[in-house]
Formats: sequence, C-alpha cells, structure tokens
Amino acid sequence: MQSQASAECKRVDNQITDIALARCIKEKCQTMKVRCVKNCFENFNGGAFDPQRPGEIILCGGGPKNKNYGPIAIHEFAHACGWKNEKGKGVPNEDHNKWAF
Ligand SMILES: [Zn+2]
Repeated sequence: MQSQASAECKRVDNQITDIALARCIKEKCQTMKVRCVKNCFENFNGGAFDPQRPGEIILCGGGPKNKNYGPIAIHEFAHACGWKNEKGKGVPNEDHNKWAF
C-alpha cells in the first residue's frame, strides 16, 4: 500500500489541475505518515484523514487484493491540504462514498 501511495505521488503534477494544491500534496507525500491498517471497519477498504491527526493518513485494507491505493492516498493527502469532497481539481474522487472520509 505504501509503495502504491509513493508511486502515485510521482504522478501528482499529471493529475492535479490546481498548482497550489499539487504543491501541497507533494509536500504531504514527503512529510506525512501513511498508516496501513488491515481492518479499519468491517468490509471497508479505502482511506481516511482525521484532522485531529494531521500527521498521517490511514489506508484500510480488507477488500479486493489488487486494489490500487495510490489514488486513495492522493485523495486523503488532498484533504490534509484542506480540499473538500467533490471539489474537483483533478483529485481522484470516484467511489468516494465507499471511502469514508
Ligand atoms: Zn474524501
């Protein structure tokens, strides 16, 4: 999961359309911890960012084995930059309702 997140971090400039947001996400890629948890909630596989814990994003396993967590990590890093759900700017947002936060 961590390696998928760091691979996606290299593609930030290709997908994020807002320069300031892209810069922020790349910084978060370098400074935030990616915490991987096998079973966060029942049958949930996705990610979460808790503003109370600004130093980390959480990736939750437990779903399809071949899922790519890279876009989910970018989505959660964007939240850490103050981005809100459904606000576009190229942030991966599909299946958001399955992702918790
Ligand atoms: Zn979200």
